[in-house]
Amino acid sequence: MYKIAVVPGDGIGQEVIAEGVKVLNALEETADVSFSLDYLDIGSERYLRTGELLTENDIDDLRKHDAIYFGAIGDPRVAPGILEKGILISMRTTFDQYVNTRPSKAWHPYTPLKEEKDFDIIFLRENTEDFYMGAGSRFSNGKGVSLDLKRKLYDAKITVSMEANTDDEFAFEIGMMSRKGIERFADYCFKTAKDLGKDKVTAVDKANVCTSLYGMWREIFKQKSQEYGIALEHMYVDAMAMALVRAPERFGVVACPNMFGDILTDIGAEIMGGLGVAASGNISPSGVSMFEPVHGSAPDIAGQGKANPIAAILAAKLMIDNLGRRDLGILIEKAVRKAMDNKDLTADMGGHLSTKQTGDAIAKYISIVE
Ligand code: ATP
Ligand code: MG
Repeated sequence: MYKIAVVPGDGIGQEVIAEGVKVLNALEETADVSFSLDYLDIGSERYLRTGELLTENDIDDLRKHDAIYFGAIGDPRVAPGILEKGILISMRTTFDQYVNTRPSKAWHPYTPLKEEKDFDIIFLRENTEDFYMGAGSRFSNGKGVSLDLKRKLYDAKITVSMEANTDDEFAFEIGMMSRKGIERFADYCFKTAKDLGKDKVTAVDKANVCTSLYGMWREIFKQKSQEYGIALEHMYVDAMAMALVRAPERFGVVACPNMFGDILTDIGAEIMGGLGVAASGNISPSGVSMFEPVHGSAPDIAGQGKANPIAAILAAKLMIDNLGRRDLGILIEKAVRKAMDNKDLTADMGGHLSTKQTGDAIAKYISIVE
C-alpha cells in the first residue's frame, strides 16, 4: 500500500487532480496495488483565510507519506511569488528535492514537429544550485563586492559608482555549484540511465563561456560516467536547443544545471505536445518526492470543466514509476494513448469532452489496455 498526500491546490489543480485520482482508483481495481490517499488543504484559499502557507503541521503530515501528488497553486488575489516561495520552494527545500524530472516523449499528432519522429527523453534538472540560489544583489558603491570581483570589474574597465540609482548602477546574480551538489545529482542521472536501460547521459552546459562553474560540472560528470560505465556526451546549451527541435530522437537522459534545465524543459514540453500533456516530479531520492502537472492554476478556465486532465494523469504515472511500479505506469500511458486515438479529449487537444468525461474515458481504458 502506498501512502499518498494529495494537494489539489488552486484553480484547475482541483479539477485535474480529481481525474488523476480516478485513474489511481481504476488501477486499484485492475491491478495488485492499493493507495491510501490523504487530502491536504494547502493553497491560496487557506492562505487568504488564515495567512498560512506551508506550516510545521503540513510538513509533519507530508513527511508521513510515500509521495505528494500536487495540482497547482496560484491565485490572482495573491501577489505573484508569495505562494510559489511560501509553498512550492519551501516544500522543495524542506524535503531536499534536488532533482526535477520531466519526461518528454512524442505524442503524435500533438507534437508540432513535422516529421514523424519518436523520441522519449527524460530531462533531469538540478534543482537547488546554479543561478537560482538567490545569490545576487544590486550595488552602486561596491559594498559587499569581493576584491576579486572589484579587480575583474577594474580590469574590464567598469567603474563602480558611489551612488544608487545612477546610470552606472550594477546588479549581479551568482551561479554557483558545489562538488557535493553536482556529485549527488550526477549519481541520480547515471542511476536513472541504468534503471531505464539508456546507454548514455547527455550533460548540458556552457563550459566554453562559464569555464569555472561548468568546468567543474564536466569534470564530475566525466568521473561519474566512468564509475557507472555509462557513456557521457557533453552538449552546449545553445547547440542543445537546436538539436532538441531538429533531432530529439538522439537523446535519452538529459542532465541540466538549474537555469538551462528551466529553459530546455519548456522546449521539451512544447515539442511533445504542450502544457496539456507535460508532467514533472521534484525528486528527493531518499525522502518525499512531489509530482505535478507542469501547467499552473489557469484561473482563466478554472471551474468550467475545460481543463485537460492528461498532464495531471501523467504526473500520477510519473509518481507510480518513481514508487517502483513502472508496470502500472505503462498501463496509464497506454490508457492515455487510447484516449488520444479515440479523440476522448478536451477542446485544447481538439476534442469535445469535459475534464470529467476525459478522466472517465482514461480510467475506463485502464482496465482494457494491455
Ligand atoms: P499559474 O499562475 O498558476 O501558473 P497561469 O495563469 O500561468 O497559472 P498556466 O496554467 O501556467 O496558467 O497556463 C497558461 C494558459 O494555458 C492558461 O491560461 C490556460 O488557458 C492554458 N492551460 C493551462 N493548463 C491547461 C490545461 N490543463 N488544460 C487546458 N488549458 C490549459
Ligand atoms: Mg504559469
